[in-house]
Amino acid sequence: MSSPTSTARHFEAALYVVSTPIGNLGDITSRALALLREADVIAAEDTRHSGRLLAHFGIQTPLLAYHDHSDPALAERILDRVEAGEVVALVSDAGTPLIADPGFRLVRAARQRSLAVVPVPGASALLAALSVAGMPTDRFVFEGFLPARAGPRQRQLEALQSEPRTLIFYEAPHRVLDSLTSMREVFGAAREAFLARELTKQFETLISGTLEELVQRVASDSNQQRGELVLVVAGARQCDSAAEDPQVAKSLRLLLPALPLKQAVAITVELSGASRNAVYELALALRDEPET
Ligand code: SAM
Repeated sequence: MSSPTSTARHFEAALYVVSTPIGNLGDITSRALALLREADVIAAEDTRHSGRLLAHFGIQTPLLAYHDHSDPALAERILDRVEAGEVVALVSDAGTPLIADPGFRLVRAARQRSLAVVPVPGASALLAALSVAGMPTDRFVFEGFLPARAGPRQRQLEALQSEPRTLIFYEAPHRVLDSLTSMREVFGAAREAFLARELTKQFETLISGTLEELVQRVASDSNQQRGELVLVVAGARQCDSAAEDPQVAKSLRLLLPALPLKQAVAITVELSGASRNAVYELALALRDEPET
């Protein structure tokens, strides 16, 4: 029987994966606050950073440092506490743990030990950006951070050239111009894109445009190379939609009379971002069209 001074517990023993705000502290959920308050311990990517968040909400739960490069024995000790009946929270510096953040090894180890792992969902920059990009959301691909070096970055983008699903990238501010420039080269200047910067914060900036327009904007405004950002890029157009795109047909109609077919196709692909095969098919059809 509980003593008159003990407080009722609302959470069962488990490892709770708790999302925290990506900027605006108002985005923390009431369930996250209750859990963080009641937890026996909070495993945090950076205890000083999370300490400030907890202090803001007057939460005094002890913190311990955990990241995926921590000694595996630490993960096991954290999980021993869950097994012993404690409520353990996992947080990262911002947003949802494990999403381009530490936690994967801990969650995997917990699952391997058949311990309860419970999500306390909330903010994540990728979904916040996608939800306002105005691009198809029924199917999308999260690519995380691109490689920092030009060669590997270019190769990774080339592997995505024909990907039809909406693409989402995290990027560091000092690399955004290089990445956008590589994307323009690989995906074509006309591919639709969206830059979401400083989401939920004072200088939140949301810019839609073609990759060409985004390169120009970011190159000419150094403010766009500051803070935190997400890039959303439209997927490659599929075969039959190139034929439906009036811009593709218009470009080919203008170029085909003046240039060899291959060159007209190459320029149209560059301008439209449509798939080379689709543009080639359309070019053949237009070339063979009877003159009116
Ligand atoms: N776990 C986080 C989440 O759920 O979004 C992501 C952590 S990852 C280390 C940090 C990256 O997320 C940043 O470099 C940026 O690409 C993106 N990001 C985080 N907060 C953001 C914000 N407020 N606005 C735009 N991008 C943000």
